[in-house]
Amino acid sequence: GPVVELVDVVRRYAGGSGTPALAGVTVAFAAGTFNAVMGPSGSGKSTLLQCAAGLDRPDGGQVRLAGQELGTLREPKLTQARRRRVGFVFQSYNLMESLSVWQNVLLPQRLAGTRPDRAWAREVLHRVGLAGREDDRPGQLSGGQRQRVALARALAARPEVIFADEPTGALDLGAGREVLALLREAVDDLRTAVVMVTHDPAAAAWADRVVFLADGRVVSELAQPTVETVA
Ligand code: ADP
Ligand code: ADP
Repeated sequence: GPVVELVDVVRRYAGGSGTPALAGVTVAFAAGTFNAVMGPSGSGKSTLLQCAAGLDRPDGGQVRLAGQELGTLREPKLTQARRRRVGFVFQSYNLMESLSVWQNVLLPQRLAGTRPDRAWAREVLHRVGLAGREDDRPGQLSGGQRQRVALARALAARPEVIFADEPTGALDLGAGREVLALLREAVDDLRTAVVMVTHDPAAAAWADRVVFLADGRVVSELAQPTVETVA
């Protein structure tokens, strides 16, 4: 089955006006697929990611992560499921500035209490073009390099799905393309599912599929032929 599955998910924020942030969303994301989520500001894209990742609890419907219904899990188990299965990449990188690249990449595994897989972490840093930069602090790196550290950090934990919220939003065109090519590689080589919120049609063009949201609903979907990865 799919890695992530939302069935009729409803999310209403307390004090929110009439329309819920998610008004009955049904969508599934499969292993080895690159999915873009687009829609106007306020259409529910971030809420969709938060609910799919188990960071927010819906008011109705079901979210399944690797077949596990998240609504049935209490807090420590929910966090455990998220740490085992989910990687995150944010627009603003969210790196720990006081830690080295290497320590940032190993941090999720340390927090999860799993034994860090150092050989894989080294391989992942090589994949993202940062071999040799392990001892740098994020402050010594460009935006594109920082985002590649964030991607390495996500990949190092071997997630089944990576949620990326505007991963190229703060990057110039070239750096953005490098990050998109690496997400594409994670999908094609590692069979990771990627769910990427973006405003940028050029970024969405790297996805296999674009899901459009409006007013908390999926209003259309577009399947796309896979792009050639041009380095
Ligand atoms: P998008 O990511 O597409 O911009 P969001 O998921 O952030 O949309 O927001 C969807 C709707 O939910 C918006 O109307 C927004 O104002 C509302 N919303 C989002 N987060 C909160 C929150 N924490 N509290 C109250 N309302 C929120
Ligand atoms: P600990 O988990 O005990 O804090 P470290 O992560 O500091 O241990 O180092 C343990 C091993 O991790 C080292 O022997 C080395 O193989 C690898 N390692 C540590 N730091 C780096 C680095 N900057 N670059 C590449 N490999 C590293």
